[in-house]
Amino acid sequence: MEFYLFGIFLLLFGGYSLFLYIKQILNDKNRVVSAKIKMYRLKICADCEHIRLKNTMYKRCHKCGCFLSAKSKLLNQKCPIDKW
Ligand code: SF4
Repeated sequence: MEFYLFGIFLLLFGGYSLFLYIKQILNDKNRVVSAKIKMYRLKICADCEHIRLKNTMYKRCHKCGCFLSAKSKLLNQKCPIDKW
């Protein structure tokens, strides 16, 4: 029983640590672009033929498989077919 509870504790702790790490990356000004650039990128994606789930909040690129909301925000990302 204690082993089972310890496993749950590890899962929760790991999930929380991962959440904090991703939050830190997304808030790091050296790794993210401005809101203006993000909107510019998303506008291009919205007109692209490779976008999937276009009318949902989970828009994805069929070329690279990325979630576009996160991809468009990161400085080191680029469109796989060089649209942005
Ligand atoms: S990242 Fe590029 S290929 Fe993917 S949906 Fe956006 S514009 Fe299209």
